[in-house]
Amino acid sequence: MSAQRAVIYPLSAATNEVAEARTNRQSPVCSSCFGTGMEVVPGKGARRCHCRTRDRQAKLLEQARIPPRYQRCSLASYSPALNNNAQLQAVNLAFRLTDEYPAVDRGLLLMGSCGVGKTHLAVGILRGLVEKGVTGLFYDFGALLKEIQDSYNPLSKTSELNRSGRAKEPPSAARESGTKQ
Ligand SMILES: [Zn+2]
Repeated sequence: MSAQRAVIYPLSAATNEVAEARTNRQSPVCSSCFGTGMEVVPGKGARRCHCRTRDRQAKLLEQARIPPRYQRCSLASYSPALNNNAQLQAVNLAFRLTDEYPAVDRGLLLMGSCGVGKTHLAVGILRGLVEKGVTGLFYDFGALLKEIQDSYNPLSKTSELNRSGRAKEPPSAARESGTKQ
């Protein structure tokens, strides 16, 4: 037994602002689910807590490796040029694919000249899917081909694709065409 005498520290109630700041700092104990990951909604039942959804989305978005120049692209921020039916149709199809995924029987191939927004739409789809909890990966098609090519070269210092796991097929992937910009 310790010879030290117990010290009494008075407890005080934390304000809501402090509690909120703790949640935002990703404190291990969330005030909505108390760390269980499930939030009880009175009269409705339990659902996945917002803290888990938010953390998972941020993680998935980071893992998707969207290049900095496309970070702000989303389907909502894509505006088709006036009277451009092809662009309007493309953005509508992109929204539909994102909404209906994974209940879709085919993907989407976007074709067009430079600067019409193919990559913007692809990133928008990727972002929309990530928000639904789907994993995805941005890959420049030229870079992907180069990596595959290098993996067959015995003199190349690039590690084999299978070993690094970078080219494993994710459930969904936004791929940019090899068009030079
Ligand atoms: Zn929570």
